[in-house]
Amino acid sequence: MDVHLVSLQQGQQMHIRGRGLPGERVPRGDVTVPTPDEEGFRAEVRGWLAANLSGEFAPLVGSGGPGREHESVEQRMAWERRLGEDGWIGIGWPESDGGRGLPWSQQVIFHEEYARAGAPARVGHIGEQLLGPTLLMFGTAEQRRRFLPGILAGTQLWCQGFSEPGAGSDLAAVTTRARLDGAEWRIDGQKVWTSLAQFADWCFVLARTDPAAQRHHGLSLLLVPVRQPGIEVRPIVQLTGTSEFNEVFFDDARAAAGDVVGAPGDGWRVAMGTLAVERGVSTFGQQLGFRREFEAVLQTARASGAIHDPDISARLVEAWIGLQVMRYTAVATLGQQANGGPGTEANVAKLIWAPWHQRLGELAVDVAGPAATVVGAGYELDNAQRLFLFTRADTIYGGSNEIQRNVIASRLLGLPREPR
Ligand SMILES: Cc1cc2nc3c(=O)[nH]c(=O)nc-3n(C[C@H](O)[C@H](O)[C@H](O)COP(=O)(O)OP(=O)(O)OC[C@H]3O[C@@H](n4cnc5c(N)ncnc54)[C@H](O)[C@@H]3O)c2cc1C
Repeated sequence: MDVHLVSLQQGQQMHIRGRGLPGERVPRGDVTVPTPDEEGFRAEVRGWLAANLSGEFAPLVGSGGPGREHESVEQRMAWERRLGEDGWIGIGWPESDGGRGLPWSQQVIFHEEYARAGAPARVGHIGEQLLGPTLLMFGTAEQRRRFLPGILAGTQLWCQGFSEPGAGSDLAAVTTRARLDGAEWRIDGQKVWTSLAQFADWCFVLARTDPAAQRHHGLSLLLVPVRQPGIEVRPIVQLTGTSEFNEVFFDDARAAAGDVVGAPGDGWRVAMGTLAVERGVSTFGQQLGFRREFEAVLQTARASGAIHDPDISARLVEAWIGLQVMRYTAVATLGQQANGGPGTEANVAKLIWAPWHQRLGELAVDVAGPAATVVGAGYELDNAQRLFLFTRADTIYGGSNEIQRNVIASRLLGLPREPR
């Protein structure tokens, strides 16, 4: 199903056009015809992907992503540069900052077509989706001039240094500290779960710059080069046998005095801005990925005859219903974002998709049967095993389920804050 948000700028209403799976019925109530502009743009994206996911990049189809970030890293970095050369990074950013200023509807189309083509998981997504928008919101003109071009060109990779061993859900407990010494910040401490730090050139680090201040006060967001003597990146081996994230140790690491986003001490506000932009339009690409995973499980169940097991067939139906619920929730959430920034709808969406994805992983291994308990030589996982194991993380990262519920309780329903 392709989604068209054709009139968000004009009338702020959403239109959904359906072209679903064979046999899928699509609601007719809000069907609309895409504008010629959108059809043209979709054709342009498809054409570009078909032309470029060929030759040296053809083997990248389907590579990378959760549990597979170790795959073809060099080639995926080259792919980032190819995307950048032709202006496919930061397509929604303002033209004055090097983007293409494309509307939400076209950004959605890009993410859908990208996922549909099986284009490789982005190694540069943290720069494009987190740091870039943060600099657009809070960065100085000089910072935007210095850092945005590398992200847009796909030549500068970033990682997010927020979580620490004692500061995950409770991010205000950050203890990594930085002190200004002449022209430099000197940084000591430890981050953990730092995704893709092993490939990153830079890290945006939430650090305590005022040792006397407590909790949300006295924090700053620093832009820190990763490859320097004061930083050690240690990959963590996960359940999947691969390493997406890392421990990052700071031992008198350095950052330039001017490389602080927002005012020193204002890091909490900046970090909350970063967390608020997490995901956005890429949700639609993510959902096409979910759909593809679901179709693979369905196909395996058909091939093995597992669909005749009433428990399996009931769970397949539940999974399909979940896909539809996520679809419409995403459309509603995107409408909210387009109308003035993400609201608590994003928390609701996360609470829907993360457990759904975990259940799909459980279904995938149940459909595979006893074979799913055996791992190939060299801990080589198949798709069902990887899906099952990696989705354990879905209810943790980007805010755990419990934290999402707390946010909904306090911000959406106005319930009393939980006692500390
Ligand atoms: C795959 C993956 C990638 C990640 N990538 C990054 C990254 O690139 N950069 C980065 O900075 N971080 C990253 N993280 C870290 C992620 O943000 C944290 O794991 C998350 O915020 C939870 O923090 P924690 O692991 O310290 O768990 P804790 O905060 O210790 O929570 C442990 C458990 O207690 C529950 N809990 C905690 N507080 C409450 C409460 N007040 N009420 C009810 N229950 C509560 C939690 O829900 C959870 O179940 C990543 C995590 C994962 C799994």
